[in-house]
Amino acid sequence: MRIAICGTGQLARMMALAGMARGLSFSFVKSPGEDVRPVEALGPVIEPLPQESVASLFERLGRPQVVTTEKEGIDVPFYADFAQCCDVFPPAEAVWVTQNRLREKTFLNAQGVPTAAFRAADTLEAVAVAARELGYPVIVKTQENGYDGKGQWRLSSEDDLASMQAAEASAPWIVEKRVPFLREVSVVAARSATGELAVYPVAENHHQAGILLTSAVPVEAVPAEWLASVERDIARLMVALNYVGVLSMECFVTETGILANELAPRVHNSGHWTQDAVETSQFEQHLRALLGWPLGDTRLQGAAGMVNLLGVEPSAPSVMQPGLFFHWYGKTLKPLRKLGHINLRASTRQQLDAQLAALLVAVYGEK
Ligand code: AMP
Repeated sequence: MRIAICGTGQLARMMALAGMARGLSFSFVKSPGEDVRPVEALGPVIEPLPQESVASLFERLGRPQVVTTEKEGIDVPFYADFAQCCDVFPPAEAVWVTQNRLREKTFLNAQGVPTAAFRAADTLEAVAVAARELGYPVIVKTQENGYDGKGQWRLSSEDDLASMQAAEASAPWIVEKRVPFLREVSVVAARSATGELAVYPVAENHHQAGILLTSAVPVEAVPAEWLASVERDIARLMVALNYVGVLSMECFVTETGILANELAPRVHNSGHWTQDAVETSQFEQHLRALLGWPLGDTRLQGAAGMVNLLGVEPSAPSVMQPGLFFHWYGKTLKPLRKLGHINLRASTRQQLDAQLAALLVAVYGEK
């Protein structure tokens, strides 16, 4: 059985590695200029030709059962067209909802999932009006194509509007009330083609320069009822989207509750810990969901975490200690680039936090 993945990055790589162990084969759809090193030797990499028909592309991909994606930034009509030939999961409409922050937050609120208060704005004048209505401080984000903190402006007062003058070309925007959050958490869940649901424990995340640096599970400093409501929320969202595959949601924990910030229609960096700490990783779970296979166990014993290797290459032996699981993507080294990650396991969250701190020093040196 074959699955075609749109994208050739590390998420595609880890899906393929998980699936090959279960007897699946893979092919990959490459965009112009995309680095294919992470999926080299894992299956054919096909770049669509100009004006190529979906039928021809489907043949060149080896007639897959399912086409899926490792990224939300895909051409949705192109992706949706594969439905003429095979299953397309997650559904193109779900990807479309998550591609645009305004659509996404409007959808979340319509499903009863709270977010930061927000307004749409097409001009700098509209940004000023929205910011006044919401009350400073606010964060202005491009509605589309922003990731890892790019395409964002933090405005503390009207004076800061000047910092956006040069950004007019990136409109339209969403203007969000700045949330005084205590922590950032995320949840990863799966819904299968048969409607079965599975949710992983909520993870706590730390970022550096807008890029995920560490994840840790379980989250202990947040009321269990709040975490349970996040798990119920993502299950409800998947049903509303008629979703098939893994869906991820990033959230803020505030003094008074949890607010959703962003959905990703794919496996997520904050779920990499599942590879080495639960029976079924998010990568295998995604494939099981696509194929309508029974979903696997998501229960965690003890604690687990992950450290991203951002622009650094530790020697493999130095990070091959008991309780550490080293993953490398085979990409070219660039500053802050996600080159690999190390998963960790511990008996308790307290022990895990100590191990995370020591590993950060081992990988990045003393701050
Ligand atoms: P995003 O691109 O929406 O994932 O945002 C990137 C990062 O900016 C988040 O991980 C938060 O640390 C921060 N951020 C985004 N939106 C808000 C908000 N409304 N209030 C406070 N911080 C935010």
